[in-house]
Order: sequence, then C-alpha cells, then structure tokens
Amino acid sequence: MADNNKTLIQIGKELKELYVTKSRLGWAYYTTGYDFGIQEANDKITDYLKDKKRFETLCSIRDNAAGPEEKRRADILFKSFESFHLSDEIVKIAKETQILTNKLSGILNSHRSHIDGKEVTSLDIQQILSESPDRELRKKAFLARAQVNKPMIEGGFIDLLNLRKDYAKAYGAENYVSLSLEKQDLNKEVFTGWEKAVNKKLPELKRVRAKYAKQYLQDDTVYPWDKDYIRSRLAPVLNTQINMTNFYDYIRTFFAHFGYNLDDYNITYDLFSRKNKSEWGYNFPIETAKDSRILANIKDRFHEFRVLLHETGHALHSYLNDPEKVVLNMGISGIISEGIANLFGGFMSKPLFYQQFFGDDLKAVEKQFGALKEWQKAHILQPVPGILFDQRLYTTPIKTAEDIHTLKRTLDQDLGATAPYGDEPVWAYRIHHTTHPVYLHNYFMGDVTCAMLEKVFKKKAGVNKIEEKPEAFARFLYDEVIAPSGLYAYPELFKRISGEDFSLKYVL
Ligand SMILES: [Zn+2]
Repeated sequence: MADNNKTLIQIGKELKELYVTKSRLGWAYYTTGYDFGIQEANDKITDYLKDKKRFETLCSIRDNAAGPEEKRRADILFKSFESFHLSDEIVKIAKETQILTNKLSGILNSHRSHIDGKEVTSLDIQQILSESPDRELRKKAFLARAQVNKPMIEGGFIDLLNLRKDYAKAYGAENYVSLSLEKQDLNKEVFTGWEKAVNKKLPELKRVRAKYAKQYLQDDTVYPWDKDYIRSRLAPVLNTQINMTNFYDYIRTFFAHFGYNLDDYNITYDLFSRKNKSEWGYNFPIETAKDSRILANIKDRFHEFRVLLHETGHALHSYLNDPEKVVLNMGISGIISEGIANLFGGFMSKPLFYQQFFGDDLKAVEKQFGALKEWQKAHILQPVPGILFDQRLYTTPIKTAEDIHTLKRTLDQDLGATAPYGDEPVWAYRIHHTTHPVYLHNYFMGDVTCAMLEKVFKKKAGVNKIEEKPEAFARFLYDEVIAPSGLYAYPELFKRISGEDFSLKYVL
C-alpha cells in the first residue's frame, strides 16, 4: 500500500515539473508578451495526462485506496486525467481551447485603452476614477474599459465560450458551470439563496448610495464611475502619495508582525507598467516553496498596497505549504488561496499595516477608514452579480456580443441596482472570463471564509482583533487552514473549522 502512495506522489512530481515549465512560460508571456512555447508546454502536459497505462494505474489505486489520504490523492490526480480518457473529441476541444485562450489573453495583455485619443494605462484610469472631481472625465475613463470588448469578440471570445460548452457536453456534464464546480469540489447548491440575499440587501444599497450621491455628487444616482470617487472622498488617505520604490520594506515590516520573514523566501516582484505587460495583478506560483512571482501594476498611491498585500499573501501561502505534499497541494481550493490573499490585502486599511505611514495621525486615519464602513456594508454582496455573470456566460445561449451585453446589463440592473450606462457594459477587460472561467466566486467565498476564521480565532484566543495576537493568529491559520487544506475538499474544511456548513451569514 505504501507503494501505491509512492506511485501517486511520483505522478504528482512529474506532473508538477511540467506545470512549473508552463508557469515560467506564462510569466514571460504576461510580463513581456513573449511566447517562448506555451502551446508546446500544454501539449507535453496533455501527452502526460493522455497516457493510458498511467491512467489505468491511477484508477486501480483509486478503486483500492487504503484510507482517506490515499483516496484524496488519487481523486485529485483523477480529476486532471479523467477527461483525456473519455474521447478523442474532448482532447481536441481541450487543445483548441488552450490555443484560443492563449491568443485572447495576449490580446488583453497588449491592449491599451484610450481617452480622447490618448493612450492610458489601467493605472491612469484607476487614478481618474478615484481622484478626479470631473464626472464627465470619470465617465470617459470608466467606459474606456469597454474598448477591449470589441477586439476580444473579434478575436473569438464567443468561440471560446462555445468550446467550453462543447467540452462540458462531450464530458457528459449538465453544463460547463456544474463541471467546473465539480472539479473545484463544489456544486451549484452552494449558491442557493444568493440572489435572494442580494435582493434583501438592495433597499439598504439604494439608500446608502442615494445618501452619498447627494453629499458628494449633488445628484440622486451613483454610476459605476462614481463609486471609487465616493470612497476616496470618504477616505482621502487612500490616495496618499507614497514612494513605491520602498514598497518591499513596508511589506516586510508588516508581515514580520505575524512572525513571517519575507527575506527567507524567493519572491520576485514585477510592479511597474510596461508595454505588452498584463494590466492585472497576478501571482505566478511557479514552484511551491521555491519560486513565487508577483506581477502587478502600481505607481505611487497608498491604496495600491491592497494588491501588493494580496499577491504577497499568495506568495507567503506557497512558502508555508509543504513541497513534499505535491499531490495534496494540487487539491487546495481556490477559495482558500484567494481567502488567504484577501485576508492580508484587507490589512491595507488596518493600523497594523498603515501605522508605518501615518504614525503621527493614527486617529484621523482610523476615522477615515471608519467612514467607509456604512458604504462597504451596503456593498458587501455586490460581487454576486459579477459571479453570476461569470457563470451564466455558460448557461445562456450566446450568439452575438449583444447577447453578452444584455446578460451583463440585466444582472447589473437587477442585482446591482446599476442604471443603464454607455453603449456597451464593461466586461471583457476582466481577464478571468478568458483565462479563469467560473472562478470569481473564489474571492467572495474567500472573504466569507476569512470572516468565519476571524470569528473562530477571536473566540479561541479571547481577543477582539486579530492584531492583538498576530503570531497566535499565524499559528492558527497554519494549523487550521494551511496544513490541512489539501487534504479536505473545501466544504468539508469549512465545516471542520466552523462546525457548520458554508453560509453567507458570516458577512451579513
Ligand atoms: Zn488572488
């Protein structure tokens, strides 16, 4: 039996090596636009997964697994191999999907928006949205994000949706959403009641928006290009100018409170904008506990630390994982990864982090972040329309760009109380729809998980805030979440820690 585990770990190691190569190529592509052979790397992975004899060995170990840990390892690997042994058609669709995804992500990464004919970066847009009192300019800046819709549609985005739909059909799944969720150890039942919860929250959302619209816009309506501006008016500290060439010292100082020494880790940061570089924030977990790289686009504003802390949270997570648990590490839920990243990202607005900058003025800064509370509470379920859009792209018949726009507008209106705006809604710029389909729930469910963890920890440690005992929290995080996270499917892990099923109540 020990041999079976050895076999599983050996397969995991070989597969991991192939993914490391692919991940390095991805890093080059996303930071410079150079494609040094991503498809060849994909083909090598496919060839590995397609191997009949290897799959038979895996299935036989899975059928005769000795104990839950061996079963879990076999299940995790089985999920990667399975579809490549169902039919030749599936293998063909998978390859076409990879090629098109790679092409479309290249279009996105090299695209730059324009305002009044002038090229702008995602940072320029962000800065206008949060700082410009000129509402017309903010509108232009926001709508500039819709400019990439057209090249993405022309590049074949709808074909990509269809390929994924065909893949699910060939697999025999109900649809691409249920298939994706199954691969993530989730099912659609987890989303039951979400729309109802949003609807219940809408009156509060409308009331709070109307209040701040009156105060800061002299209007009744908050448009999408007003949201960041209102947040900055409530907490102007967010836009404080910071010399970001010192970013690492600030981040290291913060993580040291938890007992983590970032100097012990090999983390690469690529932070400033460049031609052909992705305009998103990304962590490339190249190799567990060995090589982690962060792509971001920052310049000189305090609020940019949220991204840096989030991505550094991912990197830290990689270094806390045990590289020897190579198969179990593949089974770590995206909710756990994004939850841990968001947990650290959230410290941007807490004194444990910002005392380094505003030590003389802590009270005033605390008051500003406090002023955001009512706004944030009203918006707590606002990721939901985006999550449902991410999923319904695959459960709605879509033939034209207009079908996508209608889907987006309807969800934004019904669940986001967003008045119709512009010629086209903003959607394609969100890279997840291209590269990480059925993924957006991870951030939000990660936040719910963090709220649960915070509650459990505070009770256990007898504190009012994590910051009172950060080192004890780090131990708690390791013991309760990080160490067991590969071994259990997400719903089970949540229940082990909290004693109950996943529920939105933790953020409501
Ligand atoms: Zn993340």
